Amino acid sequence: MQHKRVSSDSPTLICKRNVSLKRYVSFANEGNAQINNLLEMKVFYTQDELKSFLQLRAKDKSVGFVPTMGALHEGHLSLIRSSKADTDLTVCSIFVNPTQFNESNDFENYPVTIDADIELLEGVNCDILYLPENAEDVYKNEVSFSIETGVLSEVMEGKNRPGHFDGVMRVVKLLLEIVAPDKAYFGLKDFQQYTIIRNMTKQLDMKVEIVGCPIVREESGLAMSSRNALLSEEDKKKALIIYQTLKYLQDKVQIGDVTQWVEKGLEQLQKNTTPEYLTIAESDTLLPVSQLEKEKKYRAFAVARIGGVRLIDNIEIFV
Ligand code: AMP
Repeated sequence: MQHKRVSSDSPTLICKRNVSLKRYVSFANEGNAQINNLLEMKVFYTQDELKSFLQLRAKDKSVGFVPTMGALHEGHLSLIRSSKADTDLTVCSIFVNPTQFNESNDFENYPVTIDADIELLEGVNCDILYLPENAEDVYKNEVSFSIETGVLSEVMEGKNRPGHFDGVMRVVKLLLEIVAPDKAYFGLKDFQQYTIIRNMTKQLDMKVEIVGCPIVREESGLAMSSRNALLSEEDKKKALIIYQTLKYLQDKVQIGDVTQWVEKGLEQLQKNTTPEYLTIAESDTLLPVSQLEKEKKYRAFAVARIGGVRLIDNIEIFV
């Protein structure tokens, strides 16, 4: 097993959010009169304020948590809805985490739409938003930790985005410590991330249930993503090939050798995109495979770039 030390040493943490926050009065500044009013979403800018509030309000309540990087869409809202259905208090966080970006361009271009996000969250009756005023607020109590990730963090996204999962584990561990939820909701769109987070919380014996939620797609089949906002209408049409290729694999592959189907899929992807990978892997171990066996679970995973925008998707394979 690969033993991974997740370091807390980091370069200067830059906070992505640079919009004016004047409209949203920090709950902590409103005074105690508001404490019993949970009808409107509360916005917290510091972890200390959020923790004090939760200690008071969440004592006998179950808490659900949905961490996001903002530029919210129906995919994110589906996680909030699941949390609302399962738990008494739903906390969402919006934080574009600098430590998980391995390309500075990607970080700089990541969409920020705080005003629209807040409206969407209020629309689904999210109870609490943690909107850190800076990255230091999230990272201030960080301590290093070690995790055995095995191949989980070495294949696919781990291989193609060096350091990405270190940053993801660092921030998710910190956010889970701040919010201390009973359940935390992650999209299966980022299936490898979901698997790595489940592995991390299990190994660290964190008292949280990690819930995986189905991928939400546009009517066209394109997986919803904050990065879709960076695509032109023409590029969005081109991007459809990603889902179509995954569906093709879902339809075609059977028990036995899958190499020819993956090769054909890659050829298909190449017509409209610059593919990074197209892989069939075991759902539990994420080990890439060329042969499918009975009674095992598999998924097909794809990453492709269109006009410099990196899109990720995956689909279940039935055998
Ligand atoms: P992000 O803001 O991209 O970090 O995503 C926050 C959470 O929303 C992650 O758990 C994602 O997997 C999830 N998510 C993003 N897009 C979708 C989608 N189309 N369907 C379901 N979950 C999603």
